[in-house]
Amino acid sequence: MELEALVETHGEPRYRAQQIAEWVFRKGAGSVEEFTNLPVRFRECLTRETVIGRLELVETTVSGRSDTAKHLWRLFDGQTVETVLMRHGYGRTVCVSTQVGCRMGCRFCASGLGGWVRHLRVGEIYDQVLAVQRVSGQTVTHIVLMGMGEPLDNYENVLKFVENVSAAYGLRISQRRITLSTCGLVPRIRDLARAGYSLTLAVSLHAPNNELRNDLVPVNRKHPLEELIPACAEYAALTGRRVSFEYALLGGLNDSPESAVELADLLTGLLCHVNLIPANPVPEYDYSAPTPTAVRAFRRVLEQRGIPVSLRREMGADIGAACGQLRRRYRPRGRKE
Ligand code: SF4
Repeated sequence: MELEALVETHGEPRYRAQQIAEWVFRKGAGSVEEFTNLPVRFRECLTRETVIGRLELVETTVSGRSDTAKHLWRLFDGQTVETVLMRHGYGRTVCVSTQVGCRMGCRFCASGLGGWVRHLRVGEIYDQVLAVQRVSGQTVTHIVLMGMGEPLDNYENVLKFVENVSAAYGLRISQRRITLSTCGLVPRIRDLARAGYSLTLAVSLHAPNNELRNDLVPVNRKHPLEELIPACAEYAALTGRRVSFEYALLGGLNDSPESAVELADLLTGLLCHVNLIPANPVPEYDYSAPTPTAVRAFRRVLEQRGIPVSLRREMGADIGAACGQLRRRYRPRGRKE
């Protein structure tokens, strides 16, 4: 642990690393001065040598039903990222971003429109959870890595975040309550399957065949369904975790009964679950919200073929809670987009 090396260079006992980790990762201390169980002289050294970065709140938008709050934060370099807090009957889920922008270019997604800027650091991912707790006064019970960015494209930092947030010194959020969403970086899915975590893997599928998926999720051209589906099967086999397939219903593009039949054929026999998401239209793109009739028909086809399916309610549609929508109204200071 890096903190152990830090305390040892100061001649302090190893347990000080645990104390510091608890202040930073569990209690969310904003300065070394708050580390009151550390000797004053050691705190003075840490104050000189370390910086505890905090996200700066730019804007909070709350949905009409008050069940979703979207926060926009400014980072140390002026870039901005979004975090969404959703309140459910079973708890409070925070949706965190893992990159500034995204280079995956999914067609229906606003995050990719401004291009990729950089990976988020571990602390920048972690502080989204702490900061949401600070501003909302609520304890986060579940995490979804589904905000801006492709988590598996920032693999090392994302896994360090998972370790810290689930650790005894951190927020103790069980890995089984953390969902990692990917658009389908097959080699990383296989790495994750072997890495010994118990995360829920959510795959942004959005199309039942390569032709449509190549268009909607361009990473499919590199890692087509013939690679993706076996990698998901391997993940389920090695972790024992059911894979969740996200399927955004885009009116007129992928919401027909024929698409539903094709999807059912693709997933039959897999330990999986399909999450249907009636899409929020993004002004720049040419699809509409699916009709309630189309959504019901699509769901019925999957259920009739034995595929477990759920329908995500459109939380926060009125506040631009599809990834990247709020951020695009802002630009980093001094930067033209
Ligand atoms: S859906 Fe996810 S992976 Fe695709 S462009 Fe948007 S943020 Fe990136």
